[in-house]
Amino acid sequence: MKVRVRFAPSPTGLLHIGGARSALFNYLYAAGSGGGLVLRSEDTDRERSRVEYEESIADALDWLGIAWQEGLRVGGECAPYRQSERLEVYQRYVEKMAAQGYVYECFCSEEELEAERQELMARGELPRYLGRCAGLTPEEKQDKRDQGMIPSLRFQVRPGDPVVIEDQVRGEVVFDREGIGDFIIVKSDGLPTYNFAVVVDDLEMNITHVIRGEEHLSNTPRQVLIFEALDETPPQFAHISLILNDHGKKMTKRDGDTAVADYREKGYLPEALINFVGLLGWSPPGEKEILTIDELIELFSLERVSKAPAVFDKNKLDFFNAHYIRECSGERLAELIFPFIRTKLAEQEDLSQKDFLQGSFSGEGVAGGQIPSPWLIAFAETIQEKIKTLAEARDFVDVLCGPHVGDLDEEAREVLRGSAVGVVREAFRSRLEGVSELDGVRVKSILKQLGKDLGLKGKDIFMPLRVSVTGQMHGPDLDRVFALLGVENILARMGETEKYLS
Ligand code: GLU
Repeated sequence: MKVRVRFAPSPTGLLHIGGARSALFNYLYAAGSGGGLVLRSEDTDRERSRVEYEESIADALDWLGIAWQEGLRVGGECAPYRQSERLEVYQRYVEKMAAQGYVYECFCSEEELEAERQELMARGELPRYLGRCAGLTPEEKQDKRDQGMIPSLRFQVRPGDPVVIEDQVRGEVVFDREGIGDFIIVKSDGLPTYNFAVVVDDLEMNITHVIRGEEHLSNTPRQVLIFEALDETPPQFAHISLILNDHGKKMTKRDGDTAVADYREKGYLPEALINFVGLLGWSPPGEKEILTIDELIELFSLERVSKAPAVFDKNKLDFFNAHYIRECSGERLAELIFPFIRTKLAEQEDLSQKDFLQGSFSGEGVAGGQIPSPWLIAFAETIQEKIKTLAEARDFVDVLCGPHVGDLDEEAREVLRGSAVGVVREAFRSRLEGVSELDGVRVKSILKQLGKDLGLKGKDIFMPLRVSVTGQMHGPDLDRVFALLGVENILARMGETEKYLS
């Protein structure tokens, strides 16, 4: 049978790392077995669901490169893919189960249910519904209706053998029926509950494998009971572990960024996130950890999904991101960093009359499809080895543009107090005279000649000049920095740092 999996988010918030991982594992499993992925919106929580969230989840998946063949936005044979638009389908199934005596109306109020829960817990028993409304007579029900009460519908759990789930990740998991209690399948507002709608949809959409977070494991016996009542075979289940923060606690918003969009905004590359998220709870056979999405497809298997919780290691994500940034061509990196530095670049003045934005993009970033300017590409290549995120490119704008140095810290000032500094600066300045175009090769040869003429070692030349021009002790290669700045800005900056010389 052809593999069909689904990603079925509730559109009550942004796509989080955990959701992205479920989506990715489903995608990898489908792609690796020639199957298909369905994207379905589980929007039956009327209060909390928003179309905007649905859109942003789909956007985040698109950005990550997780493609679905059927569902939201693309349609397909099992449409509609939004649960709120499938109410007649659920109604059909309610009738089917009601005909078999599995469904009854429940008029209990929230307070009554809560009191029952408390009582059971006080007795040390599992909180569950004990079936108070199961035996209501037609007259009693009519009476409650007459009082304006609107019932929900409950599924009756019949006595029987324990529910056994052969989970592809966790192995055999056994649940006693007695602990489950009759559960609601249609709320008093007429909308199906998650446990019911998910079964109907997985059935109607011919889902073969359900790969989802461990938090749904405890829901699974209820779902299996519904499959049973409908005389249908459940799909294979695979419950993937929680993601913990580095203190071993479940990751929450308090741990900082949890939404994919946060990472996008901070300048993480989709391929870095994919690589990182792919390794949250799954490990490749072999040592290689840097893996493209195609390699992940090839290597992924449910057997290698771990039962143990995954730990979110931000340093590892940064390491991957820095790696993928280094892998970029200068042109791609220029396109990627442009949206992050655009505003700051626009504020820059420049003595050599460079127009940083000219020829870059129409102002719409990469979308314009224009080719980044040579200056922007050179800027990108200059900082390529130095940044872990695209947003960090912003920190280099002041260093690499314009005539001003900014404040020097004590360590940098100390460098400029060195005895040979004045001589080095003067010699460099005089060599720049008459030079109009400065490129990396030119800078290198000037610095080399300078060392020879003055009889000084590399460092004794580079350090004073780096600090004189950038105000900093460290940074990208000097030949690139100087070429980017150009003669006018370099001379202006040296003028500014003159005052630090002793
Ligand atoms: N709507 C559920 C959620 O967002 C999906 C659970 C499932 O995959 O069955 O958690």
